[in-house]
Amino acid sequence: MAENMLPSKTRRGMNEDDEILPKLGYVEPYEGESISHYLGRLRRFKANSLPSGYSLGKIAGLGAVTGRWEKLYFNPFPTRQELEALASLIGVNTDRLAEMLPPNGVTMKPRPIRLCAACYAEVPCHRIEWQYKDKLKCDRHQLGFLTKCTNCETSFSIPSDWVKGECSHCSLPFAKMAKRQKIY
Ligand SMILES: [Zn+2]
Ligand SMILES: [Zn+2]
Repeated sequence: MAENMLPSKTRRGMNEDDEILPKLGYVEPYEGESISHYLGRLRRFKANSLPSGYSLGKIAGLGAVTGRWEKLYFNPFPTRQELEALASLIGVNTDRLAEMLPPNGVTMKPRPIRLCAACYAEVPCHRIEWQYKDKLKCDRHQLGFLTKCTNCETSFSIPSDWVKGECSHCSLPFAKMAKRQKIY
């Protein structure tokens, strides 16, 4: 009982731990996944539940930047510092995060949003390479990209909004659109 009479230890050392950046719940990236699609999944992950790209940018100390990345707008191009700030928050390696962006010297075409439905049937994500300006077809499947729903012709929404992997208007699953893709 004598121990209880001792003055409690100072808590100063522990307060420093409280001040480190909040870490978000980890979400495993898919191979080839675009940063837009990844950030959408990351935000919607239950433990994170962040309503917008802006809310994520705010905790990362990046302001509106992550919201622009979700729209696939990379001008000005993401800096190493910005990627590091986000990487430490979400527990993903900075180089791995950089792989979700177009590589050096590759021009992006952010609109229209493209889809290879055959790829999506295999790995359910939007791939960054689909938006390369010089890419005319999916090299894996030798199929032309889709830019709108094969049923109702609605354009695809930005990949961070692909919650269920289906057309936002008629709910046709992306994977089912593969049979209407043309051999290129
Ligand atoms: Zn494909
Ligand atoms: Zn549709």
